[in-house]
Amino acid sequence: MNPLIEKAALKPYNLTHGEIVSLLSLEDTDELFSAAYQLKCRYVGKTVSMRGIIEMGNVCAKNCYYCGIRRGNPNVKRYQLSEDDVVRMARWSFEQDYGSLVLQSGELESERNTEYIERILKRIREFGGDAFGITLSLGEQTEEVYRRWREAGAHRYLLRIESSVPELYAKLHPADHSFERRAECLRVLKRLGYQTGSGVMIGLPGQTLDDLAHDIEFYHALDLDMIGMGPYLPHADTPMGRGLELTDAYAAAQLKLGLKMIAVTRLYLHDVNIAATTALQALDDRGREQGILSGANVLMPNVTDTEYRRNYQLYENKPCLDENSAKCRNCLNWRVLAIGETINWGQRGDPPHYNAKNPRKA
Ligand code: SAH
Ligand code: SF4
Repeated sequence: MNPLIEKAALKPYNLTHGEIVSLLSLEDTDELFSAAYQLKCRYVGKTVSMRGIIEMGNVCAKNCYYCGIRRGNPNVKRYQLSEDDVVRMARWSFEQDYGSLVLQSGELESERNTEYIERILKRIREFGGDAFGITLSLGEQTEEVYRRWREAGAHRYLLRIESSVPELYAKLHPADHSFERRAECLRVLKRLGYQTGSGVMIGLPGQTLDDLAHDIEFYHALDLDMIGMGPYLPHADTPMGRGLELTDAYAAAQLKLGLKMIAVTRLYLHDVNIAATTALQALDDRGREQGILSGANVLMPNVTDTEYRRNYQLYENKPCLDENSAKCRNCLNWRVLAIGETINWGQRGDPPHYNAKNPRKA
């Protein structure tokens, strides 16, 4: 076995920056993926946790250069789900034994939006109780707003840093989008007791393996509980994606790099939750299964009503636009069984990293 892989599996954070780069540059990935998968099994067993994701709305105040629902894209039909619709989809997920839920949307900072989320959280808590996990992914907000949402019942938050390298971050965003503010939001979320998740886009134009190694070290520096990262996928209606064609060779390279990032992140951090994100499936029909076999332990199937899915295309080639939520549930169940794993139905699936540090907290 490659001595670096052995060294990494011994204990967490046991690689230098150069060693992380060297694992990320491996061409032959079999040993890397299987060691990361074994480590995942050591921490959570042969099980996968599920989070149903509700795409609540595509109205966004920001203008990220890579994203299909950026404010500046006029070709998107904008929508926002009603409170009743969100609660109905959440209840369906709860009744279908999804142990947890993610509420995601474009970024909106307004009292109206804050209250809308608060009311939804309180209504979900009424039927879900404490045993139902609720994650928010609603972008950058003030500490006060994060606190109000935490008090209303959210206990996890996902906010990708997109790239932990400020110079690269600056190339992906307009000048008024601040890397420092985003990183500070993550620190605030941790302080408020959220199980905190972040991640990056992988295979961005101009991104080096050195940058990606820096991202993995950033996850450690921020003491994150959950990692949600995925390959960058071009969208033709965006400044970054215009003219970038997703050829077979490009897709294969993006998938391989995405899987390597999952494996090396698992080998470096050991006990966090890592998602096999939908972007992997956009590149390969079995992309998410490959993600699990490379060390991921969380899946996030879409539970939004089918009629809205076409309007929430952060990137092109997004899979499952026409499948309804019941079909997605079934399909994923079989896919997971087919790789010899089982789904943790009805379990919140808290990150072992968080449980280790908060033995008695929710
Ligand atoms: N507005 C919120 C949540 C929705 S966007 C936020 O930005 O935090 C969720 C994630 O989609 C982003 O964090 C980004 O990493 C990802 N995303 C957007 N456009 C993408 C693209 N073209 N390829 C891959 N991922 C993309
Ligand atoms: Fe808005 Fe999030 Fe897309 Fe940026 S990535 S444009 S914040 S939805």
